[in-house]
Amino acid sequence: MDYYSSQITKLIEELSKLPGVGSKSAQRLAFHIINMPQEQVERLAGAMTSAKANICYCKECFTLTDQEICPICGSKRRDHGMIMVVENTRDLAAYEKTGKYEGVYHVLHGAISPMLGIGPGDIRLKELMQRLQGEVREVIIATNSSLEGETTAMYISKLVKPTGIRVSRIASGVPVGGDLEYIDEVTLLRALEGRVEL
Ligand code: ZN
Repeated sequence: MDYYSSQITKLIEELSKLPGVGSKSAQRLAFHIINMPQEQVERLAGAMTSAKANICYCKECFTLTDQEICPICGSKRRDHGMIMVVENTRDLAAYEKTGKYEGVYHVLHGAISPMLGIGPGDIRLKELMQRLQGEVREVIIATNSSLEGETTAMYISKLVKPTGIRVSRIASGVPVGGDLEYIDEVTLLRALEGRVEL
């Protein structure tokens, strides 16, 4: 039985497809949106459409950006000889928030997970290896400390070691299975400073 008009039901359905939004939250959000002023709704819808249309991957580090080269890769003030490998753009943002990391990044967009059928070819590893042909001194592996993150870290260190480039892993202290984005800046900095060579 359809309690709401089909338009509202459709909105609830679409919202409930978002991660972390259950059917109750989807209902609450739908009614909130309907009660919002028209121009606010248009701003929200417009921001979603234009983000989707204009966001692409940085040609160097593969983070999400609206330029060909992201502001970090494009900056002369950053140390381009130091590459921190992260799983996603949210993790990059977490490190950027500390304001203390001066190198550049490489965003894998995932981690190796045999359970989920995600292999080395499914994340941006080949692109990382291509970057290492440039002037790189150190690769800092900052994947999560989950099983997938550790598997990925081991895999990358095995790939990078033969090149003679220094490979390090951020120190533990980052909670096991913890998503980097939820960890506070002090812990992140400690993990970075205490990184160990692999
Ligand atoms: Zn970039």
